[in-house]
Amino acid sequence: MAIRMDGKKIAAEIRGELKGRVEALKARGIEPCLAVILAGDDPASKIYVRNKKRACEEIGIRSLEILLPESVTEQELIEKIRELNEDRSVHAMLVQLPLPRQIDSLKVLDEIAPEKDADGFHVVNAGRLFTGRASVLPCTPAGCMELIHRAGVEVSGKTAVVVGRSNIVGKPMAQLLLNENATVTICHSRTRNLGEITRKADILVCAVGRAKMVTGEMVKPGACVIDVGMNRLENGKVVGDVDFESVDEVAGYLTPVPGGVGPMTIAMLMQNAILAAEKHG
Ligand code: NDP
Repeated sequence: MAIRMDGKKIAAEIRGELKGRVEALKARGIEPCLAVILAGDDPASKIYVRNKKRACEEIGIRSLEILLPESVTEQELIEKIRELNEDRSVHAMLVQLPLPRQIDSLKVLDEIAPEKDADGFHVVNAGRLFTGRASVLPCTPAGCMELIHRAGVEVSGKTAVVVGRSNIVGKPMAQLLLNENATVTICHSRTRNLGEITRKADILVCAVGRAKMVTGEMVKPGACVIDVGMNRLENGKVVGDVDFESVDEVAGYLTPVPGGVGPMTIAMLMQNAILAAEKHG
């Protein structure tokens, strides 16, 4: 059986650590504030926003929820972001993805002032990460790195494989591993012989969105396997991209789903909001 990388427990520890930083800010007269914009009524997005709000409340960050209708125009959304950019009481913000169809997400995300970009998706922050001058890290990849570090898994010199190349998970994840001197391969939907590649990985990160696609025979014995995927089955159960039972037999370290990467993502979001308040409050 692989060693569990318990994201739920580690995220609770991190939130505990962050509380102290919030108190220190408040003692300086700064109340950190995270604004969350939710456009439309996607049920999964509503749950994510609720969880983020709850985490804010727990550690003492003020959370500002901005709910916009599914029919919101790109211009209206941009105007809201500009208003929050100007608001000195708001230190960080995020726009919950996915956005309604009529809206160009990349254009909207680039309207957020880079210093208030809680998700680290702004093109300037992406560029900083890719040129080794990162100031804010995308939350999910940062959470995965934290899990790897806290498990004591060495990264430097290791072979790492990231399955998935999205701007918000796969690509920044690969870059973070590269920044720590792993030798990194990125796989995607056109990759041939996926199993042959994943089997070489000392560190394997799966961020695809296909239930249980990575099975035990695709994993190197002893590997550290991070499962980012969150897939809801017809019976309502949420499972990862990794087939937990078969991979558990082979891997050295493994994240559960739920309770692995998900809570870490929110903890890293809280950290980004606090960092923004510390730097620019
Ligand atoms: P995207 O849909 O944006 O990206 C999925 C990636 O998987 C793409 O790069 C795609 O390749 C690749 N892919 C699709 N099919 C295959 C295949 N058969 N073999 C190899 N690669 C494939 O998803 P996200 O990156 O946004 O999210 C990935 C998963 O992580 C989802 O389940 C999502 O719910 C979850 N997630 C979880 C978070 C958490 O906090 N736990 C946070 C964010 C996401 P191509 O580029 O060629 O299309």
